[in-house]
Amino acid sequence: MKVGILAIGTELLMGQTVNTNASYLSRELSEMGISVFYHYTVGDNPGRIQLHLNALLEQCDTVFTTGGLGPTLDDITKEIVADTLGLGMVMDQHSLDRIKERFGMFNKIMPESNIRQAYFPEGATILDNDCGTAPACIVSVKDSDKNIVILPGPPKEMKHIFEKYIRSLLLEKNQHAMHSKYLSIYDLGESTVEDALLDLVTSQTNPTIATYAGDGKVLLRITSSGLEKGMNELAVDEMVETVKSRIGSHVVSDNGDDIDKVILKMLIHQKLRIAFVESCTGGLLSYSLIKNPGSSEVIDSSLVTYSNEAKIREVGVKSETLQTYGAVSHQTCHEMVSGLAAKTGVDIAVSITGVAGPTGGTREKPVGLVYIGIFYKGEILTFENHFTGDRETVQRRTVLKALKLLYDRLTSQTN
Ligand code: AMP
Ligand code: MG
Repeated sequence: MKVGILAIGTELLMGQTVNTNASYLSRELSEMGISVFYHYTVGDNPGRIQLHLNALLEQCDTVFTTGGLGPTLDDITKEIVADTLGLGMVMDQHSLDRIKERFGMFNKIMPESNIRQAYFPEGATILDNDCGTAPACIVSVKDSDKNIVILPGPPKEMKHIFEKYIRSLLLEKNQHAMHSKYLSIYDLGESTVEDALLDLVTSQTNPTIATYAGDGKVLLRITSSGLEKGMNELAVDEMVETVKSRIGSHVVSDNGDDIDKVILKMLIHQKLRIAFVESCTGGLLSYSLIKNPGSSEVIDSSLVTYSNEAKIREVGVKSETLQTYGAVSHQTCHEMVSGLAAKTGVDIAVSITGVAGPTGGTREKPVGLVYIGIFYKGEILTFENHFTGDRETVQRRTVLKALKLLYDRLTSQTN
């Protein structure tokens, strides 16, 4: 199936609204093995909407439009579709009742202008909108098996209609089913990942492999399509195993989850309580877990001990240790994490101390030097790291590294 997407709305061309509908639809459709051939964006202009609608109808089996279903005079998508296909517009009483009802729910009376939202090109299949007033619809093109799917502009409503009606219709129609898995890869750059998998990437026909660089992670998509029932899944699983045999220690998830979410799940599953004491990252590490729902089940506490005094007062670092080795050292890092573990009685404790910069670096202790300590099952390990980049980058890289070390520690114990 060939698809074209026509996004309608002057605000899109003016840069006031980002065309997230096109990217959402494209992603969902290509996941289903449906080829998206065109994205067009036009303003609320009858001539240009019609011109591009015709162009897409010529090239594609299905055209998705989004936007232009509002009650105002510039919302003209359905009228232009009807005009293009030589159809009249007819009122749908069920839709009108629903729109009135929706206004009633908010103790309002429906303005006259909203009646327009209950009119559709004749013969259209109408799709109720539970998230807004504008119903969507599907219009078949006479004497062909082409369709125009008319969706509302607000992303929440568009997604709702897509999920409730369109996805199942497409899956039914699209015999070339497909299956994908997304591997989340950490602590390896995109080019290193590609190098490690070069022969697989270059010789790929089915399954296909694609990499996407994200924030500190590389997402590897493995997709198989066009095979018989159950065989796409098998082909993808085989490829996942091949990839894991090469870079398995860096693959933390095969459903695209971020490492923080993966760790949280492991902690919850294993009923382990965790605490953090951070210096140069100011609580970012603990926040990377706390931002996820469910963290209250496993997180005991998070301290930010920025000054030497706080390190002494809160987690019992010895002042001689600070004087002899400095705040940024294996020894201080070790005492921070052992002090925290003793104070809280948690199963896992993590400490961070380092020089985030841009000032404060010395020859012996340059900007980017960061120690990460992990206490787990009575054992303490400290890791020395050298990160590059500005202050924020050093902090971000520290958090990613600490998460990876934590992940490694948890998996080595549970394997
Ligand atoms: P409309 O159906 O044209 O009245 O659109 C209503 C609202 O939906 C607009 O004000 C935009 O904020 C939003 N919208 C329309 N088209 C898009 C799009 N392609 N991507 C994201 N948001 C959109
Ligand atoms: Mg509009």
